[in-house]
Parts: sequence; C-alpha cells; structure tokens
Amino acid sequence: MDRIINFNPGPAALPLPVLEKIQAELLNYQGTGMSVLEISHRSKPFEKILADVQQLIKKHFGMGDEYKVLFMGGGASLQFVMLPLNLMSKGRTADYIITGSWSKKALKEARILGAPKVAASTEEEKFTRVPRPEELKLSKDAVYVHLTSNNTIAGTQWKRFPDTKGVPLAVDMSSDILCRRMDISNVGMIYAGAQKNLGPAGVTLVIMREDLIAQCEDEGLNTLLKYRTLVEKNSLFNTPPVFPIYAMKLYMEWIDDQGGLEAVEKQNVEKAELLYGAMDAMGDFYRGATEKESRSIMNVTMSLPSEELEAKFIKKGLEAGFNGLKGHRSVGGIRVSMYNATPVKAIEKLVDFMRTFKAGN
Ligand SMILES: *Cc1c(COP(=O)(O)O)cnc(C)c1O
Repeated sequence: MDRIINFNPGPAALPLPVLEKIQAELLNYQGTGMSVLEISHRSKPFEKILADVQQLIKKHFGMGDEYKVLFMGGGASLQFVMLPLNLMSKGRTADYIITGSWSKKALKEARILGAPKVAASTEEEKFTRVPRPEELKLSKDAVYVHLTSNNTIAGTQWKRFPDTKGVPLAVDMSSDILCRRMDISNVGMIYAGAQKNLGPAGVTLVIMREDLIAQCEDEGLNTLLKYRTLVEKNSLFNTPPVFPIYAMKLYMEWIDDQGGLEAVEKQNVEKAELLYGAMDAMGDFYRGATEKESRSIMNVTMSLPSEELEAKFIKKGLEAGFNGLKGHRSVGGIRVSMYNATPVKAIEKLVDFMRTFKAGN
C-alpha cells in the first residue's frame, strides 16, 4: 500500500524507519518471546529502554545530569496544571508569555491555582508574532517564566529564548522539541506531548532541572501529582506508557541515524526555506499568516484569496496525496505541519503542487 504525504498537526507522521522497526520486532522483542506491548515495566528490557531514551534525549539537547528526564501520562495539558500546582503554591507567582491558544490554556489553569502574571501577550495582533525581548515585563519574584516555544495553531516560533534575568524558563515544546539546536542555559523545565515531534500519542516528556525540582511542593499534594515522586521513582511510581516510551527511544535513535540534531535542524531549515520561499515568490496568492521574523519552521500557516479556494486547495491536495492541510478550526486557512519526520522531498512535491494549483486558479 502506498503511504500518503501526511501533514497532520498531531498525532503526526513518524519516520518510516521507526514504524518499520516497530513492525519488525512487534511480536518478539529482542528475543524475549514477548511483544514490547506485553513486557513488564519493571523488567530488564524496559529498564534498558528507559535508560537509553533518557540518555539519548539528554545527548540531543546537550544536557548534563542536573536535568532529570521524566515520563508521564495526561498530555501536555496536564503539565498546564502540574507546573503551577508544584511551583506556584503558597502564594508564589510565575510569569506567563501569551503567544497563542496553548499559552492561554496554560495561563487559565495557573489562574485556577493562584495569581500568575502576564509578562507579555500578542493577542491584540492575533498572535501573528512572538513578543520582542524589550516587550517583556518580568516580575522579580516569579518562580518561573512560562512560554510556548512553537505556536502550533498560529504558526509562530521563538528563534531564541529571551533573557529572563536568572528566572528559569518553563517551556512548552510540544510542537518543536528537538527540531533544532537551542541555547537552553536559562531553561529549567521542558515539557512536550510526544505525538508531534517525539513519537505516538500516550506519553508526555517532562525534563526538569535540579534547582526547580528543589523548589517543588512536597506537602499537601497527592502523590502522583508531585514531580518529586516521579523523580524519586524514575517515572516508575506506577505503570508508565511503555509502548510510546519504546517508540520514542526508536525516534531518538533515528535522530542519531540522520547525523544528530544538527543534521535534523539543517533539514528542517531547508524545508522552511523551500516552502516560505515558494510562498513569497508567488506574490499574494499564498499569504503567510505570520510576521516573517516569527515564522515557524514546524507549522506553516497561510491563507488563499478566498475560503472557496482554500477548500478547493485542501480537496485537490488530498487527491494529489497530501493529507492534513486544513488550518486549525479556530483560525481557518491552510496549515502545513512539517515536523522532523517530514522529508525534504515531501515539501518539494507540495511546492510543485502549489505552483500548479495557482496556475490553474
Ligand atoms: C498539541 C499541543 C498541546 C496539547 O498537547 P496534549 O498532549 O494533547 O495535551 C499543548 N501545547 C502545544 C504547543 C501543542 O502543540
């Protein structure tokens, strides 16, 4: 069966070699006589999967042992709750930078638990860009500064993380984790649902630095809602999502096979230059939805001259073998989600299609 080109925003395309490896060892995981779907989370094979994926993630980020790599359920959305629950207790506060729907949701949950502050927001500009460093109003007493590194729906992305004057950043990297090399020296916490750029749905990656773990609440919180429990039990307080963690390990190995994060970044930049370059070269037909300096290399958002043409573009695109081109229901338009697993060739084909479509319409 032919696989189509999948631009779904999440769950999203996985690298084909990862799927093939899963298929090849699905019935008998490395001589255990059992599927990885059937092994114990307290068995030696899973202990190794866990240790390997933690080591690979730290290697790709260039992180030292001060960062703890954790796995849990509940999606990135549960981290909107757990982060303030653990770190904003007892009247402490945090700063939130609002750059799209996901940061608004994170703020909403923090407000249920306390009094976070908004350090900046680009909502008045319909989230067409991320704030400039000089626009941030950081508070002195914040325990962390929360930001969304890539705005999946709006199609914007931070090019580098802002200086937060010594306050650790807590970053929702759900839609651009490990898509490029980044200076993370002021990042104290990272979280990401796996289903966009790490693996299949069902596990959330949480990385926390020791200084923030030390500030986490220990009393008055239920056991599984405390980051400290997950750190102390190495994510094995209860049964973790074994299969998605295994798939994530294969994904991390695939990054190695590409030549590491530097090579993955190079491909991602190439894809972005191809697609944005083509859009810009075709005049006003494919209008970018974001300001140039904030353009995301993961989710490219655009509009066509009319909603009818957009609907036609999506329909004809599907016929030509492209899936997932419809913009998020809250903003409309066209969105091309091209995470790490999307090959350069897929974008070359899309650009050809876009030229043909414009010529015929
Ligand atoms: C998809 C997404 C989420 C939500 O993730 P869930 O795992 O479904 O909770 C949060 N933040 C960002 C930036 C996303 O792209």
